[in-house]
Amino acid sequence: MLVFKFGGASVKDAEGIINLAAVVGKYQNEQLLIVVSAMGKTTNALEQLTKAYVDQTNDLHDIYEGIKQYHYDIISQLFESGHPVFDEVANTFVEIDWMIEDEPHDDYDFIYDQIVSVGELVSTRIVNAYLNKAGLKSQWLDVRGYIHTDNTYRDGVVQWEKTRASIQSAIPALLEQGMVVTQGFLGGTSENFTTTLGREGSDYTASIFAACLGAESVTTWKDVPGILNADPKLFNDTVKLDELNYTEAIEMTYYGATVIHPKTIKPLQNARIPLLVKPFNHPEEAGTIIKEGAVNVFEKPVIIVKQHQVLLSISTKDYSFITEDHLSDIFSKFAKNHVKINVMQTSALSFSVCFDYKDDFFKRLLADLSSCYKVKYNSDLTLITLRHYATNVVKNFTEGKTVLLEQVSRNTAQLVLK
Ligand code: ASP
Ligand code: MG
Repeated sequence: MLVFKFGGASVKDAEGIINLAAVVGKYQNEQLLIVVSAMGKTTNALEQLTKAYVDQTNDLHDIYEGIKQYHYDIISQLFESGHPVFDEVANTFVEIDWMIEDEPHDDYDFIYDQIVSVGELVSTRIVNAYLNKAGLKSQWLDVRGYIHTDNTYRDGVVQWEKTRASIQSAIPALLEQGMVVTQGFLGGTSENFTTTLGREGSDYTASIFAACLGAESVTTWKDVPGILNADPKLFNDTVKLDELNYTEAIEMTYYGATVIHPKTIKPLQNARIPLLVKPFNHPEEAGTIIKEGAVNVFEKPVIIVKQHQVLLSISTKDYSFITEDHLSDIFSKFAKNHVKINVMQTSALSFSVCFDYKDDFFKRLLADLSSCYKVKYNSDLTLITLRHYATNVVKNFTEGKTVLLEQVSRNTAQLVLK
């Protein structure tokens, strides 16, 4: 059996969904499990909606209407009026209607997951209905009964044993009856609340299903020809990497290559399942394959650019040395506040850490650290990671820029720039 994953960009409009059906239609002889993300930028819009609801701002209803209208416009282009999908979509949005009528609950992350998850619940309803309309037998599956997580909202930790048991007991029989369409990014707790697996987590969903079912491969369908050495939106002469081994792929995602979610590769590597990254507009092309024994060839350095970085430097209030005890306390504060570190550096009197700026997580971390340490920070920085580079390339990136932190090892150079 095969696992396919379609990200937000591939289902951003009616045309995307028609194309998805065309791609899937070429694999009718296979058993297929299809993981779908929220359409286009829906997750961002739902994040805004969550914030507006919690802060009770005036734009709440406008944001919500915008999200609904976007989906209704798409289904109006795909289905005749009166098609059951209109009710399915409306019934899914009802979960938000009920929530926002009430006073906000005080756990932001909990509310976030209950609202933001609607993006995937709706997109999969639409994709499933369209596949059936196109004559491809497909069934909608609520992933929350299969991917079980703890109740760490917005960063659900997968309970593997329970998840594997649920998936193995039900999915093979369903796949006998036709393709299965399910939500990326979501999980469910033992109390039947919805969790999310972290932004861009749909790839991880695909990998969980593949690992539990022993899939032949996972394919993530993208709006790029495969994995490139750099983001084509930022650089001109990008080249495609034809194959990568799991270790290199893990390293690249660790440093922030957004083409695959960082948690995706490990379960596939353990189960030796190849991951293909292919262009959804040209399904016949080979794309990139990540597999065991692949030969990594780097004609050009791999360049990973992360924007919206914060560089925080932490020192003790009495200007004493930073010791191991401080470091251990600082790390536990990062872990507790779900802030993932991108680069760090220690000196005698301070410890500097670079990470992604996420408003609410950042504020919590800052409050927590400031109670014990002196903290200074710079925001809106860029982190550039170069892998497999020639030393002269580094200078192309630093010329005319203020370098706030530089870390260089044999394979990898990291620069934090203003
Ligand atoms: N829709 C979610 C997000 O945008 C998950 C994903 O796309 O993988 O973060
Ligand atoms: Mg997305």
